[in-house]
Amino acid sequence: MPHRLPPAPPGRLGLRARLALLLAGCALAGAAAAQAVDGARIAAADREPGNWMSHGRTYDEQRFSPLAKINDRNVGKLGMAWTYKLDVDRGVEATPIVVDGVMYTTGAESIVYALDARSGKLLWRHDPKVNAESLSQGCCDVVNRGVAVWKGRVYVGAFDGRLIALDARTGEQVWSVDTVLDKTKSYTITGAPRIVKGKVLIGNGGAEFGVRGYVTAYDADTGQQAWRFFTVPGDPAQPPENKAMAMAMKTWSGNGWVKWGGGGTAWDSMAYDPELNLLYIGTGNGSPWNYQFRSEGKGDNLFLSSIVALDPDTGDYVWHYQTTPADRWDYTATQHIVLADLRIDGKLRKVLMQAPKNGFFYVLDRTDGKLISAKNYVPVNWASHIDLKTGRPVETGAGNYGPGDQKKLVIPAFLGGHNWHPMSFNPKTGLVYLPAQETMAELEAQKEPLFLPTKSVVNLGLEVPELPEDPKIEAQIRGAWKGRLLAWDPVRQKAAWSHDYASAWNGGTLSTAGNLVFQGTADGRAVAYAADNGKQLWQSPVNSGAMAGPISYEVDGEQYVSFMVGWGGAFPHITGPISLSARVRPEARVVTFKLGASQKLPPAKLAPALPRAADVPPLTASAEQIKQARLMFNGLCGSCHGLNAVSGGVVPDLRYMKPEQHELFAATVSGARINRGMPGFAGVLKPEDMQLLHQYVIKRTHDLSAEIAAARPAAK
Ligand code: CA
Repeated sequence: MPHRLPPAPPGRLGLRARLALLLAGCALAGAAAAQAVDGARIAAADREPGNWMSHGRTYDEQRFSPLAKINDRNVGKLGMAWTYKLDVDRGVEATPIVVDGVMYTTGAESIVYALDARSGKLLWRHDPKVNAESLSQGCCDVVNRGVAVWKGRVYVGAFDGRLIALDARTGEQVWSVDTVLDKTKSYTITGAPRIVKGKVLIGNGGAEFGVRGYVTAYDADTGQQAWRFFTVPGDPAQPPENKAMAMAMKTWSGNGWVKWGGGGTAWDSMAYDPELNLLYIGTGNGSPWNYQFRSEGKGDNLFLSSIVALDPDTGDYVWHYQTTPADRWDYTATQHIVLADLRIDGKLRKVLMQAPKNGFFYVLDRTDGKLISAKNYVPVNWASHIDLKTGRPVETGAGNYGPGDQKKLVIPAFLGGHNWHPMSFNPKTGLVYLPAQETMAELEAQKEPLFLPTKSVVNLGLEVPELPEDPKIEAQIRGAWKGRLLAWDPVRQKAAWSHDYASAWNGGTLSTAGNLVFQGTADGRAVAYAADNGKQLWQSPVNSGAMAGPISYEVDGEQYVSFMVGWGGAFPHITGPISLSARVRPEARVVTFKLGASQKLPPAKLAPALPRAADVPPLTASAEQIKQARLMFNGLCGSCHGLNAVSGGVVPDLRYMKPEQHELFAATVSGARINRGMPGFAGVLKPEDMQLLHQYVIKRTHDLSAEIAAARPAAK
């Protein structure tokens, strides 16, 4: 057996040595248990409810904890047991794994942490040092959704596309493979690996950067590739890789997608049914979003925005269900998949549930992929309903922004009625706890493609989104985007109760046998509700937006609830000013609660002060030049630093630049901070373009000073 632990040293030991040994013993016990985690143990996870051994706790990904020591009668006594500060204050999206007293989790930039689950003490840390250039080559922050644990190893997907196996005792690398098929394209990994029958499964992101999606299985022992399933067809001039690709090819037109990648990336959800031996994957949006450029506006474009069932042994296609045929709205079906057995019309059905971005809640028969029911869970305008006979959406045309059409207001927006934030299912209440959101956006097709997407510059085949600089209009749009926790009855397809939030992008959910639902919020709280009636029973500040799915575990008879905290991800990056109702700053931490504890967090990070007017360089550009500069800024910089230079607060808000940063502006834009995730535009922009961008930032700094000055007397 590999990785056998050394025997305890014999002999008499002093108190200090014994204490040290005891502490080491805790870590080693956990590592020993991690060594034994395998498919049989995950499949029988309910026999050891104190552990959380795979991403969704169980292969059916219900995120339900059978633990009930913390319950609806005593949850008010929950206090902070420990916190652990993560290295990088960016978006935190991981679900921790806990095995016998050790927590394995990840922060931004794919850094892995092993912590003592009782105390939060660091046992080891592994920084895969992701390729610095890759940091700017993802759509939605340098996030990671967690590790998998299997037979003494911890597996993580690094942002630059590597899949890495670590020794669970030490964090040392055992093997590493590059999952990236084409190094000229911007492939990233943000999802958590899943492990089924000794194979590590991982997809990737990049559909906004022109990639072709796939899922790959690697031997957990050796890292050797076992199979790869492409989610969209390749070049029609070449023979298709398999029968599934031959079938998919018939649903695409022309060959535009070959240049644009096609998309369909499987960047998050997977679930597994050991009895049926079926692996379910969720696939993403088309590349580009513009359906005309991608497929001449023809065909369903399989397997975009689909749930695909595969044979986990071979990667062979078994069935698919496409939620959004011919997707042109970034309506991914990568959202969390939950398997359950539900009594529907008197019959016990093996179902698969998903609430993809497109706003409809789907219940499928997971044996064959047939639609059982579907209902919109948030307001939608692109389709009126899902036809239960054909399984297809009945489109209204309201979302058809091209070709020849004007811009269209599409509901939900590209961030969806629900995004990656995992939902949970409680078999006791029969309810799904869904972190939903109301979103909308105007989309307008480019008449002709401007350029193909590159590794660091996105092109969706759409015009740059327009958002007036007027703060009143900003506030109006901000108000139209909101969050909602829905307790959704999947049999009746309606909400049992709901709870509204001022901001979208609230956390994933955990439900427990203690009649509780836990959720983090965008505005920086951890909250508990009664699972049956939705009454809020407890809350605690956690300083930053809590987006990830919380977990519960037990060590030495004590139940804990743990939240991964840290604001970031697509929402504050892409929507800039619209995300500001969350009113938090990124601050990355693991925050763990237990009954009767009373630890306190340090005060939350303060917002930076606006520079003095004398420290801002003079505005010399004409109004006409500023107009041009604004278009250039929103096209090149807006998706990270915020539209109109109003940042969502994760990537620096350039209006707050210090004098020395103004001096370095051109150098920074040219690539001087490439190792901190700021792309270099030296070959793309001329010096006069950089000057124009700088002038726009200066203009917006003056605008902000004026806004603040104008607000002052009114505040008196
Ligand atoms: Ca996308």
